[in-house]
Amino acid sequence: MIETAKLALGNLFGLAREELERLAEECGEPRYRGRQLFSAIYGKRERDFTRLTGLSRSLRALLSSRFYIGYPEVREKLRSRDGSIRYLLALADGESVESVFMPEERRTTLCISTQVGCAVDCRFCFTALMGLRRNIATGEILGQVYSMLADRGVEKSTRLNVVFMGMGEPLLNYAAVMKASRIMADPAGLAIPARRITVSTSGVVPRIRDLGREPARPKLAVSLNASSDEQREALMPLNRKYPLLELLSACREFPLGPRERLTFEYVLLKDINDSEADARRVASLLSGIRAKVNLIPYNSGGALPYRTPALDRVLAFQSVLAARRVPTFIRISRGQDVRAACGQLRVESG
Ligand code: SAH
Ligand code: SF4
Repeated sequence: MIETAKLALGNLFGLAREELERLAEECGEPRYRGRQLFSAIYGKRERDFTRLTGLSRSLRALLSSRFYIGYPEVREKLRSRDGSIRYLLALADGESVESVFMPEERRTTLCISTQVGCAVDCRFCFTALMGLRRNIATGEILGQVYSMLADRGVEKSTRLNVVFMGMGEPLLNYAAVMKASRIMADPAGLAIPARRITVSTSGVVPRIRDLGREPARPKLAVSLNASSDEQREALMPLNRKYPLLELLSACREFPLGPRERLTFEYVLLKDINDSEADARRVASLLSGIRAKVNLIPYNSGGALPYRTPALDRVLAFQSVLAARRVPTFIRISRGQDVRAACGQLRVESG
């Protein structure tokens, strides 16, 4: 009797170059066939083995009979007036994740998720309301990028930025995130230089140190979101495990390129962490770090009590930092009219 496992088709999407080389060998082919597969899948964005005319007819037939190349499917798509598109993408087990497509004049930024839900439980975050359902596999992380590129018909010449700022804590799914980044950065893959890939973390200190040791590492953004331990603990329970002193010392030691700055994100919550005194404390916390700050006025929604500060508060906060020579930018989340907050789309669609 034939084993059912052999009948089940396997998804090749998400396999690294060495894994595809091994697969080629197992199919009785030379290793370089694996490299051909790699550039067909990730570089040419091919999804149909029969079109891989560089391979022998018999290998194409074998691959088609046992494997497929599958991306997450578009379940919902919300177009914002600002041009960005929020996707709810379905994974093979029926779970879904959010990803955002943000076209700009000279480049397109893709924001992707790394976990279904999140265990970190930040009080202001919609994703946290789901708890952690599961980690997302490498192919599902990469698949969000490819699914959006295919849906939008994005040309290969378009400059891409990728930010791991969707649902989940990327550094708590470290191996899959790094593997996906390496495939994206590979010249035979999407060829996105690592400096145009950004991992955003709530502050998982040991993994920040690991990231610093990676040979070709993505950029790091740290979600600071508070100006004191007491305040941060109330907003981000993770601060109890990794308090500011530890977090900021890992940041101080993080290796930076010659012109690189470490990004700190700061979600501004009305009357909670948005005063000028907060801004002064942030400036002193960051002293000695080559930092830049992205201020994100909070995206509010029904389920959580936090509110967005008025623009003059945001500008006042920015001037305090700027006066202390901390480059500070205001990031208005795109897709305001289509439930922009991370996790909001998924949480509200059940
Ligand atoms: N888990 C990672 C990455 C995903 S969250 C992290 O926390 O960094 C990406 C960013 O969105 C974080 O800076 C987070 O603080 C911020 N964020 C979460 N919910 C938000 C909301 N409702 N409005 C504005 N920013 C939010
Ligand atoms: Fe998780 Fe980031 Fe949301 Fe915190 S802000 S709960 S770390 S996704």
